[in-house]
Amino acid sequence: MSAAAPQNSFTQVSSNFLRQIIAEDLRTGKYAGRVVTRFPPEPNGYLHIGHAKSICLNFGLASENGGVCHLRFDDTNPIKEDVEYEDSIKSAVQWLGFDWAAHLYHASDYFDRLHEFARHLIKAGLAYVDSSSPEEMRHLRGTLTESGRASPFRERSAEENLDLFRRMKEGEFPDGAHVLRLKIDLASPNMNLRDPAVYRIRHIAHHRTGDKWCVYPLYDYTHCISDALERITHSICTLEFQDHRPLYDWVIERLAEAGLLQRPLPQQYEFARLNLLYTVMSKRRLLELVEGGYVDGWDDPRMPTLAGLRRRGYTPESIRLFAERIGVSKADQWIDMSVLEDCLRDDLNTRAQRRIAVLDPVKLVIDNYPAGAEEECFLPNHPQQPELGTRAVPFSRELWIERDDFNEEPPKGYFRLSPGKEVRLRYAFVVKCVGADKDENGKVTAVHCTYDPETRSGTPGAETRKVKGNIHWLSVPHARRAEVRLYDRLFVAPQPGRPSDLVDATSAPSLAVEVDDDIVIEEATERNYLDDLNPRGKQVVAAYIEPSLSEVAPETRYQFERHGYFVADVRDSRPGAAVFNRAVTLRDSWGHKPAAP
Ligand code: ATP
Ligand code: MG
Repeated sequence: MSAAAPQNSFTQVSSNFLRQIIAEDLRTGKYAGRVVTRFPPEPNGYLHIGHAKSICLNFGLASENGGVCHLRFDDTNPIKEDVEYEDSIKSAVQWLGFDWAAHLYHASDYFDRLHEFARHLIKAGLAYVDSSSPEEMRHLRGTLTESGRASPFRERSAEENLDLFRRMKEGEFPDGAHVLRLKIDLASPNMNLRDPAVYRIRHIAHHRTGDKWCVYPLYDYTHCISDALERITHSICTLEFQDHRPLYDWVIERLAEAGLLQRPLPQQYEFARLNLLYTVMSKRRLLELVEGGYVDGWDDPRMPTLAGLRRRGYTPESIRLFAERIGVSKADQWIDMSVLEDCLRDDLNTRAQRRIAVLDPVKLVIDNYPAGAEEECFLPNHPQQPELGTRAVPFSRELWIERDDFNEEPPKGYFRLSPGKEVRLRYAFVVKCVGADKDENGKVTAVHCTYDPETRSGTPGAETRKVKGNIHWLSVPHARRAEVRLYDRLFVAPQPGRPSDLVDATSAPSLAVEVDDDIVIEEATERNYLDDLNPRGKQVVAAYIEPSLSEVAPETRYQFERHGYFVADVRDSRPGAAVFNRAVTLRDSWGHKPAAP
């Protein structure tokens, strides 16, 4: 893998405030030309499309500027973390096309130094052990309108604090007996500066450091120091950390003053997180969907996880394109799912070869075609890219066509097969419908037609015959069966669990939220987001595919003509037993579907 971040040929790189800041820092030489960013996931879940925004941003900014981006596992909470998650995170970052090279770190790599720095802060009178109960501490912290008050332990001597902190580390006290707090400012209007806790006792093994520690550093303390130790220049995080920035700066400043950290120190910048309509992204909800069996695992193709999007058929290029299109700003943004879907269409439209699949088959019999005869038709692999060539597809007397390409009583504007009407069988002949067979329930079992041998596609003059309809087909004796999973959006509501009027369309100006009028959302205040699950999010059909497709390699993507983009399922598709997932329809058909059968 190359160290440079891959670029899509069609990506229009536009400026954003972070690109401007970095350009300015390079101009002034603030970091002597270095650009070092990091992506700091907590290994407590699978990455989702929101994380992809942060990954593309951090790795992208570094590579655009000849810098590096670190992958750092923020593993300070031993309770929820797991190596399984670390592995899934690494493979998701690599799949997106990014490379941390030698820069893979763990916050737990720094536990020794974090501890040493805490001892320094105690000696300097900047930290103390508080033995108040959590309730007392909460009570003394004050509120937004009322300043905090000192705990009775705030004025302990440095010696006493050092001794207590040592005994905390040595395991003398139970969980919760004491915490180490920074001594900053109890009257600060910023609650984060009211003597935040930085170490707590947890008698629990850590997946990397084992039983070595029973005191663990908290996020705010760990994160800024980890950044500074790694000599990060631009520490980019989401907006909810804005109020934590003064604390970030306080900690690393104090340690730099003591010569424990090197200057220039990292600078934190905040951007708006990605919010996507018609899905959920909170780790708690994603876990609930998996554990409750509402989806088929973390990589269910309806999930917004990167593992799910990959299995759905999304390409790394389409996700990087999405990250670029949505941009980076400081204002909260809600992005419609159609923006993501369009990125995939734009990517695959140029790259995916075309194939034929009949998803809801009914037989078409060409009454005047000789029984037992067959011939080959030549289908372009990509109509806009003739250099991709053609392939031979067998044609015979009995064909599979889509059931809805025949209509006995065609509505106005219906140009496909109906009694007495002509259509072109794509890349083959013009046929005229002469009738249909039905079973005792009136269901059509076969459509009959006659063909005109003079109209074969590709022969001189054949294409001059004017017909309005143009339908796809597969030869009955040659077509193969395949399982096709027709995936759709996971939720039917733009903001699952919330009434639709909470969608703030003003906050995403360039990519305005399009909430489909057709989707009726019941007036409700307290809705369960699970009630908004799309009952038609996954439908499985037994389809017919071209003979050559049945040997397809997993993860190969195609456009099935007239249907959309499909991928051979990475888990379940086998040579001879292909399974395809629908990634996305050809056009945004959301909300305009016919009613369920
Ligand atoms: P947690 O509540 O467990 O911290 P998290 O979603 O913040 O959940 P992290 O593993 O801490 O998960 O996230 C890693 C990085 O990804 C963080 O820098 C975070 O800011 C960023 N990130 C997470 N969600 C989004 C999102 N929706 N949009 C953009 N960036 C995100
Ligand atoms: Mg987080």
